[in-house]
Amino acid sequence: MMRQYELVERVRRYNANTDEALLDRAYVYAMRAHGTQKRASGDPYFSHPLEVAAILTDLKLDDATIVAALLHDTIEDTDTTRDEIDGIFGPQIGALVEGLTKIKKLDLVSKQAKQAENLRKLLLAIADDVRVLLVKLADRLHNMRTLKWVPEEKRNRVAQETLDIYAPLAGRMGMHDMREELEDLSFRQLSPEAYESIRSRLQTLKESNGELVAAIERELSEAVAQKGVSAMVKGREKRPYSIWRKMEQKSVAFEQLSDIYGFRILVDTVEECYAALGVVHTKWPLVPGRFKDYISTPKQNDYRSIHTTVVGPGRQRVELQIRTRMMHEVAEYGIAAHAIYKDMGAPTEDVLARDSSAYAWLRRTIELLAEGSSPEEFLEHTKLELFHDQVFCFTPKGRLIILPRRATPIDFAYAVHTGVGDRAVGAKVNGKVSPLVSELQNGDEVEVITAEGQTPPAAWESIVVTGKARAAIRRATRAAVRAQYAGLGKKIVERAVARAGKAFSEEKLTGAVGRLARSSLEDVYAAVGRGEIRPDDVVKALHPEWTGPRPEEKAALKGEGWFELEQGQSLKFKIPGIESNPDPETAIPIRGINRGLPVRFAPNGGAVPGDRIVGILTPGEGITIYPIQSPALQDFEEEPERWLDVRWDVDENDAQRFPVQIVVVATNEPGSLAQIAQVIGERGGNIDNLRMSSRSADFTQMVIDIGVYDLRHLNGIVADLRAREVVSSVERVNG
Ligand code: MN
Repeated sequence: MMRQYELVERVRRYNANTDEALLDRAYVYAMRAHGTQKRASGDPYFSHPLEVAAILTDLKLDDATIVAALLHDTIEDTDTTRDEIDGIFGPQIGALVEGLTKIKKLDLVSKQAKQAENLRKLLLAIADDVRVLLVKLADRLHNMRTLKWVPEEKRNRVAQETLDIYAPLAGRMGMHDMREELEDLSFRQLSPEAYESIRSRLQTLKESNGELVAAIERELSEAVAQKGVSAMVKGREKRPYSIWRKMEQKSVAFEQLSDIYGFRILVDTVEECYAALGVVHTKWPLVPGRFKDYISTPKQNDYRSIHTTVVGPGRQRVELQIRTRMMHEVAEYGIAAHAIYKDMGAPTEDVLARDSSAYAWLRRTIELLAEGSSPEEFLEHTKLELFHDQVFCFTPKGRLIILPRRATPIDFAYAVHTGVGDRAVGAKVNGKVSPLVSELQNGDEVEVITAEGQTPPAAWESIVVTGKARAAIRRATRAAVRAQYAGLGKKIVERAVARAGKAFSEEKLTGAVGRLARSSLEDVYAAVGRGEIRPDDVVKALHPEWTGPRPEEKAALKGEGWFELEQGQSLKFKIPGIESNPDPETAIPIRGINRGLPVRFAPNGGAVPGDRIVGILTPGEGITIYPIQSPALQDFEEEPERWLDVRWDVDENDAQRFPVQIVVVATNEPGSLAQIAQVIGERGGNIDNLRMSSRSADFTQMVIDIGVYDLRHLNGIVADLRAREVVSSVERVNG
């Protein structure tokens, strides 16, 4: 266990003005408070907060953060109170420790609604002081490093929570080292076999490549040095999880060195970055499509660097990052690095807040909370934004609009202004008319075409990726749906009053809305339209003496010109505003949707839960479900009225398989087919059909139909296949 003077020494190495007495007091206080408590490993409990503090000294953080780390478990696990900490260490540290105590019990992998609520609490606690997050991340890192001591049944849960929430949060705050270690530790726990297979392939690769990495390092530094730039060049093996992610997402052949090793060129100034880039591009051909300049347009989390890939020494593809040493610090430590270049006397919350766009992201997220979206909407929004990288687009006037990856021109329109989004009818991307559902790329210039009196189609909601667009579309859709229901309800009321042989007067009905427990005429109409109020009750509210329809009138009510959607009509899909009320007693009248409307998947397009989907209505035939990435959707671009916003409505307790098709290319060797079948089987996939589609001397291509539960399940199988030596590529058909 680290001694008191060792901790102080670590802090003093980067902060000459450290308050040693304060650190000493915290060390002694926490050690006494935890007393004889033990960790599951048998170590004294105090070793844990001490390790957490040590992790934070690596990030060169200020005294208050280190002290909060030492004290972070005291309020929860010992007799210590907030008042006591305030008294001894001051209210600022007291607030940090209390913030950490509040978020300690939050369960972030529970049921959707609870999870959202908890994530909200977590972010609110962080919003007060971002140092709460820094300590929390260090706390989680130490707990993940010592995961083997956690009871077995809890390990997966902790790892899943780390992978889903804490690792992306660390990344979002620009702390890449932290993120990568958290991801790797989680991955190892959650997919031990995949982790092992990647590790063993890395090992094989390392043995066959021998001195190659050192040779590339040498050749790169000599080339740059010849131009008078002093640079440090370092090759680095990527971590298993980031290789795994690549295998899940892209068709990556494991053999490509560029997928396994990254090289970094560190220089002193921005000018030298571009000079080094010039040297590299002059000497070796660049691989098209891989060049990114995050120095001129930094990422949202402050990341700055030049990325490029060249066909380098030994005809190997070499992935390069070129940056200054200062940019490197920010890339490694993110939000924590902002303290490093400041006066180390007092890196206050202010410093962390003002200089960082990562913190701005946090602020924006908190604002979204304040706007009062439901917890589920919030989670959806936050998760999407956490996991997506971003694209940089421009308005025709050159204004930069930063969007999450996979954003569409619709997201762009809403990012410019809600009014622009609501009235958008088309878009020009780089001067060419493009579908509103297309995916924007880095550097696109987007011009939004608007028209007055437009309402955004509800289906857009499942296409957009930004929370802002989604919330606005939902609002507009709700208003439009409500107006439709109110119009329908008004007709129903008029007809019911006429049938009862009474006089209809809107004025009189306005006076009677209170009797129907509604606050306005519009509310009454909408409620009737939705089926929440029976038309007869409205007649009674208007004419209390009326006793209801005669039996022959009741019979005539059937088949009135609108259809009732029946319960169980579409088991798999939820159409917001339509199927949300499946009780036949209050079944919703909807025009344009027929009784027993069939719902089916697009041919060859097989969608699985997790895919984002859209329904296309074909009158007289039914609804066809397409995954959002399906190119076939472009054919319906001109007919927005046929687009339906559909959602998966899968019962988690009643898992069901969905068919997808993948194409696997494997080497011709004995047992390769058996291996592929085994991998799919072990992962719980069900092979429905398998056929060889072509065969050469070395490779066989096969088309496999698999039944999977959802996208995560499918991606797991695909990545696992890609990790095997006999497999050279795996592609999802229409994926
Ligand atoms: Mn702890």
